[in-house]
Amino acid sequence: MIKINRAAVRPREELLRHADEWTKHLIGLNESSSRKKYIAKHIMGFIRPLRTLFNDKCAFCESWVVSERNSSVQRSIEHFHPKVLPCYYDQIFRWENLFLSCRDCNNIKGDKYPVTSSGEPIINPCDDAPDEHLTFEYLDFPGGVITTVGYITPRGKITVELFELNNRSDLVKRRGEVVKPLIQLSRFAVDDTEARHLLEEASLAKAEYAAFARALLNQLEQ
Ligand SMILES: [Zn+2]
Repeated sequence: MIKINRAAVRPREELLRHADEWTKHLIGLNESSSRKKYIAKHIMGFIRPLRTLFNDKCAFCESWVVSERNSSVQRSIEHFHPKVLPCYYDQIFRWENLFLSCRDCNNIKGDKYPVTSSGEPIINPCDDAPDEHLTFEYLDFPGGVITTVGYITPRGKITVELFELNNRSDLVKRRGEVVKPLIQLSRFAVDDTEARHLLEEASLAKAEYAAFARALLNQLEQ
């Protein structure tokens, strides 16, 4: 998970302007199937700006959601504050509450919104600095790499646990495949400018699992 600057992208004014009107109409619908259809119909207008904002990556696990290499990964729009809770109805069509997500993160989170024992929420990659809460670690061995998202705060802990960032075999396998060559690059990058340049490219927001490349670069600085 990396920090995303939401102010960098703005959806069409029309989408922002209609949020209140759509919410009012939605609350008037009685059947849950009608409500679901109504939300799906209007929310899809946000997909293009969300894809731009999140670089076609899941906001939470950093997997590409549109990829020729991984056709099983599909995109979803995640409501950070769950849409089923009446206290968050006013955020169903709010730009700030919408995130691009892979299907797995979307399904696992569902309508959950856990808080720590002191009442603090999970990490919001647009409002919080994920690297103040999470660590991005690896164990390198001849047969491969095991990558782990660790935590340094209670908010980090509930975020890792909620999205099961270390327990999803497909995610952990794919992450290891991407990070293994980066680890090799980081060894050369100490005195090889080309290797360092490639590692810096892998740390850009558009790169898959960029948080791990950033952690490797930080290690070089120390
Ligand atoms: Zn994800």
